[in-house]
Amino acid sequence: AKENGKNGICFYTPDINDRLVRYQEVSAMLRRAIVTDRLQLYFQPQIDLKTGGIGSCEALLRCFDESNRMIFPAMFIPVAEKSGLINRLGDWVIETACRQLKAWQGTDLEKTRIDINVSGRQLNNQHLAEHILQTLERYELTPDQLGLELTENVVFGDYEGQIGQLERLKSVGVHISIDDFGTGYSSLVYLRRLPVCSLKIDRSFLHHAMENEGDMAIMQAMISVGHRLGLSVVVEGVETHEQDNLVRESGFDLAQGYLYARPMPADQMPAFLAGIESD
Ligand code: C2E
Ligand code: CA
Ligand code: CA
Ligand code: CA
Repeated sequence: AKENGKNGICFYTPDINDRLVRYQEVSAMLRRAIVTDRLQLYFQPQIDLKTGGIGSCEALLRCFDESNRMIFPAMFIPVAEKSGLINRLGDWVIETACRQLKAWQGTDLEKTRIDINVSGRQLNNQHLAEHILQTLERYELTPDQLGLELTENVVFGDYEGQIGQLERLKSVGVHISIDDFGTGYSSLVYLRRLPVCSLKIDRSFLHHAMENEGDMAIMQAMISVGHRLGLSVVVEGVETHEQDNLVRESGFDLAQGYLYARPMPADQMPAFLAGIESD
């Protein structure tokens, strides 16, 4: 039996046990994946709705188990955050994104920014900004080639320290976005204080906007607040032509979703770019 906060005693059920075993399996798998190089970044373009070109692309982490089955982040990111492995994974992502940017130099993709996802625990590390800037320098990249996506709930622990790091990164040109915007706490209050460049509105608003006037109103309000604060506003999860029409009419700046492209390995990006340029 284990103490359980205010409700007193709670017994381990088979279900909790299963989850514990699962947690240990996933973290062991992750540790092996890090040392045996079974991680890969996939890239999903964000379409600039004015030009039709690629505005930037989001790096999405994939892990492969011993049978080469792809494991999605929903399975391992929460485990990595809990176990602290997220810092090693995060460093791997920073390094790999920079190496990819370097590889794109001299190709048609050299202007394409890469946006990486950053967890709260990474931002709590007071050396994160320094580490990112040093890595960019080591690959001879300019800071504006990299972007960070943070959820609102990320800014949690050492608030001032986190803001300071974000300010430092933004001041030299690293692009900062708030991800899943609208789903966290006190969105608008954070917006005033956070050094950000763009807002990425959570896909649930778009998905409900078609049938639900309330979601439509909130989505439009978020776009206009974003624009009045001088931010670019991004929509994620565009899957249908109806949604594409809606996001264009609503005034979004950038759009991302399966309709334009699924996340893909880096070697498929040149063909994707060639395809949209010849349309
Ligand atoms: P996210 O940052 O909100 O990323 C968007 C997710 O939506 C991705 O799932 C992407 O594949 C998926 N997606 C893209 N287009 C569509 C669409 O049209 N419809 C729908 N239904 N989904 C779409 P993915 O790759 O499974 O990643 C899930 C989450 O895992 C991400 O959510 C992000 O929070 C986290 N994540 C991914 N890579 C990393 C990473 O390198 N570091 C950290 N800390 N978190 C990561
Ligand atoms: Ca993201
Ligand atoms: Ca998101
Ligand atoms: Ca999300």
